[in-house]
Amino acid sequence: MSKNIPDSFNAAVIRQKGGPFEIEQVKRLSMNDDEVLARVVATGMCHTDMIARDQVFPVPHPIVLGHEGSGVVEAVGSRVRNIVPGDHVVLTFLNCDECHACHEGHPAYCENFNPHNFSGQRIDGTHALASGDGSKLNDRFFGQSSFGEYAVANARNVIKVRKDAPLELLGPLGCGIQTGAGTVMNVLKVTPGSSFVAWGGGAVGLSAVMAAAAVGATTIISVDIVPSRLELAKKIGATHVINSKEEDPVARIREITGGGAQFAMDSTGIAQLVSNMVTALRPRGTAAIVGASNPGTMAELDLTDFMQNCKNLVGVVEGDSVPDRLIPTLVDLFMADKFPFDKLVKFYDLADINQAAEDSEKGITLKPVVRMQPTNGAA
Ligand code: NAD
Repeated sequence: MSKNIPDSFNAAVIRQKGGPFEIEQVKRLSMNDDEVLARVVATGMCHTDMIARDQVFPVPHPIVLGHEGSGVVEAVGSRVRNIVPGDHVVLTFLNCDECHACHEGHPAYCENFNPHNFSGQRIDGTHALASGDGSKLNDRFFGQSSFGEYAVANARNVIKVRKDAPLELLGPLGCGIQTGAGTVMNVLKVTPGSSFVAWGGGAVGLSAVMAAAAVGATTIISVDIVPSRLELAKKIGATHVINSKEEDPVARIREITGGGAQFAMDSTGIAQLVSNMVTALRPRGTAAIVGASNPGTMAELDLTDFMQNCKNLVGVVEGDSVPDRLIPTLVDLFMADKFPFDKLVKFYDLADINQAAEDSEKGITLKPVVRMQPTNGAA
């Protein structure tokens, strides 16, 4: 391995439930022959990092989180064919490529998703990282653990992107943004001239709004309770906004669409809103659940309305995307000014990662992106 690549580097480590992120020198232990070492330029922060930090989602601690990394490839293993040093890449979730779902082209539903992404280790039980004193450090969060200056990922979850795109911006395409956009493009298959409602206007909901505009939906409604998010929705493609604290969203959607929406997506995870979303569909309409709820959360459906009006409801992970296809497509749309996801992003230095988490949780920042070096240098 090149002598330019340090054996230890800065990373944000979670040592206890609830945090904080602590910046430490960690050691790079190993890289397998099917893996890629990337110098991380920046990493987006998402709700899933928070629930892993808080062990609502039970990942082992201590751990390096971070799962929306972008960077430059420094080294590749001997069996890696499609990626070379110097490539610009986005890191995404890891799939096994061996199960039924992977073989059928649906890697987000990989039967081995949890061990590959949430076990804190490689599938063979080894680690790519250790703490500075050599003690155990869990890694491999979403197959990458990219809240650090370097990340070791499998070639399968390393997506090559064009070099003229602003690399430090691209990490969120690896999870939150591909979730909203992929739900619209891959699952709902929103059509030109159709109506679409995004219930929830965070990073995921607004990505769906941008994607609906990109594919030509002509009635795009954003529902939220935060006025600034509704204002932003209007700037990036929503034709209508509804503050559901101030007006009945079901009645208003029926009024705007002349009876109900053709397509809808919920990113709030709130059971009552999921019920409302289905109620506000037009006959033969389709709705998608994307928001995370506490396990065991139940939602009510009017079964007669659902049956008689041939409504459809589907759950979606990661936009059911094939990241090798969707992520470069979203980069192309961004470069063509048709997917302005930069409007959601605020940058933070690695030293300020706890501020990024706080601003995200308070709703001050839609999509924090943590720069690993306190400069603008992308490559
Ligand atoms: P977020 O918290 O920024 O977005 C949620 C939005 O819902 C906020 O804008 C909030 O104001 C709004 N909201 C809350 N209560 C509301 C109400 N009563 N009426 C209308 N709007 C309301 O989070 P995000 O980053 O956009 O992520 C959304 C969800 O998607 C999270 O639960 C996240 O864990 C999940 N997620 C799922 C996947 C997946 O693969 N399924 C991937 C990434 C994220």
